Amino acid sequence: MNDTTSQKSSSSPPSSPPSAKGRPRKISLYEKHKKIYIRPVQGWWATWRWVFVWGTQLVFFGLPWLQWNERQAILFHLVERKFYLFGMVLWPQDVFYLTVLLIISAYALFLFTAVAGRLFCGYACPQTVYTEIFMWIEHKLEGDRTAQIKLDTGPRDVRRLRLKITKHGLWLLFSLWAGFTLVGYFTPIRELLANAGTFSFGGAELFWIFFYAGFTYLMAGFMREQVCKYMCPYARFQSVMFDPDTLIVTYDKERGEPRGVRRKNADNSGLGDCVDCNICYQVCPTGIDIRNGLQYECIGCGACIDGCDEVMGRLGLSKGLVRYTSENALAGKHGRTGLASHILRPRILLYMTLLAIVIGAAIWSLATRVPLRVDLIRDRSILAREVEGRIENLYIMRVMNISEAPRQFSIRVSGIEGIALVSDAQVTTAAAENHEATVSVRVPPDAAKKGVYKIFFEIVAEDDPKVAVREKTTFIMP
Ligand code: SF4
Ligand code: SF4
Repeated sequence: MNDTTSQKSSSSPPSSPPSAKGRPRKISLYEKHKKIYIRPVQGWWATWRWVFVWGTQLVFFGLPWLQWNERQAILFHLVERKFYLFGMVLWPQDVFYLTVLLIISAYALFLFTAVAGRLFCGYACPQTVYTEIFMWIEHKLEGDRTAQIKLDTGPRDVRRLRLKITKHGLWLLFSLWAGFTLVGYFTPIRELLANAGTFSFGGAELFWIFFYAGFTYLMAGFMREQVCKYMCPYARFQSVMFDPDTLIVTYDKERGEPRGVRRKNADNSGLGDCVDCNICYQVCPTGIDIRNGLQYECIGCGACIDGCDEVMGRLGLSKGLVRYTSENALAGKHGRTGLASHILRPRILLYMTLLAIVIGAAIWSLATRVPLRVDLIRDRSILAREVEGRIENLYIMRVMNISEAPRQFSIRVSGIEGIALVSDAQVTTAAAENHEATVSVRVPPDAAKKGVYKIFFEIVAEDDPKVAVREKTTFIMP
């Protein structure tokens, strides 16, 4: 089997039937991947894509350099097992917030997908954003779509070698910078930079810098649309979140067909608005023809809208032959204002309510969070023993001060008549540090019969009684 259309240099979509001789086009099941040469496009949606590129990259590359309370504002310190988020210090015990974050992300994705399809894919997905940056470098160096095709199919001369080396060098530099930045979220980035001067990174740091850099270089430089088509699971299940009111990039068949090139001195009256220029196909980063209907490869980037609007503008026709719209709106089930009201449909309202509840609960939980954690376990080596005429039980107590200032805590114990703390009743912990000690508790032998009794430890900050934790445990009377 062979493919009679060379996509490498063609400006027509491979799905455009029929071939010159009218025979059906054959496609091999094991067809070799062909590079997609994208025509640069300008317009409203292209501007928004760049706004997102700048926004996401400023956040990603800038955040690790931000200082807060004389430390890195956002740092997932794996060695210390502490996560610093501006004024907050999260410990492994706060994994609950990670779960909440994942739930919020999932609901937000459901919500945005139900409203406007693959908005995330088209504008904010790292794969899209990095590919956009890599393509920008490519266009700056090698020229537009035609120039790139000419370069790749032309002679392997010095100019081509120079351009290719420069392009791959810049891609690699950007990828290494991205890898370095990513690791900077887990190791203080200023330390990392100092280590870069002497190339004295730790083994794990070195691995992750190069791993992420290699991954970025491969995915944005070579794999590109194949990641969206074959690797991304979201592309596969997004359709279950769509309904006839979901905004998707659509070609208005009613208006565009029958398509055809306008010819001078010919009767073009029977033709629709589509002039079959294939611009919408040439600007598509996934190499599909939107005129074939909604396809899972479409990442909703809107490049075809910009491309087609430009053509319509030149022809003096109204824009929007390809546009964001819904199946119902296209079928004339509601007008343009109706489209807005259909966005707020029951399903969307349900997602919004759930999202608001989860976000509200998370904010409330964070706002009322006590900056103190206590781990208390019985000392398993000694269950109970008699010391100086009293019964003693031992506990291992870890007091975690999760505030940004050093604190002194007092410890009290209650639950059995005459119970008393023998070890220190006060502990001091540095900011965002913990204090671990063996705590001894004694009870007069006649205070209770043989058995297991509930007792309570109260750990209270001396400067703020609201910062307190009450822990329940047991006391064994032998
Ligand atoms: S069909 Fe249009 S919106 Fe979809 S990926 Fe291609 S250019 Fe982007
Ligand atoms: S860009 Fe517009 S006019 Fe040109 S082929 Fe696509 S839909 Fe038709």
